[in-house]
Amino acid sequence: MQIAANTVVTIDYTLTNDNGDILDRSQDGQFCYLHGASNIIPGLEKALDGKTASDEVSVTVPPTEGYGERDDAMLQTISRNMFGPDQTIEPGMQFHAQSPQGDTMVITVTDIDGDDITVDGNHPLAGVNLNFDVKVVDIRAASQEEIEHGHAHGPGDDHHH
Ligand code: ZN
Repeated sequence: MQIAANTVVTIDYTLTNDNGDILDRSQDGQFCYLHGASNIIPGLEKALDGKTASDEVSVTVPPTEGYGERDDAMLQTISRNMFGPDQTIEPGMQFHAQSPQGDTMVITVTDIDGDDITVDGNHPLAGVNLNFDVKVVDIRAASQEEIEHGHAHGPGDDHHH
């Protein structure tokens, strides 16, 4: 069986940046996703298309096919009082916010100057080359329910809709 739209694919992957630092890896060597449903970044989905079980794929995904280029317009200065009075704020901390389009985005605190807090709304991996080493573990046809939901239901998946 080949990886194609509407297959559920299990991969074992390691993601590194150009310095060789590990940014992410599959938990327990098993990451499961629905192919063709934009569950994973476009550059990786494209590289896996047509592969079969036990294939190994090494691919470098540029930012344009990953999390996008960095955009300085996403840097903003906000006031300390946007946060709760008891919240500790320090550079490097991250929190989730809603974008104007309603998507969840990760905001990173980059600088603090008195009551002025500089935050960066770029994805933490924006502008980064993503080097994936992937082994295809398993491929199966997606169920009708998975296709309707647009995501894979893993073994023992306890989510209900
Ligand atoms: Zn579901």
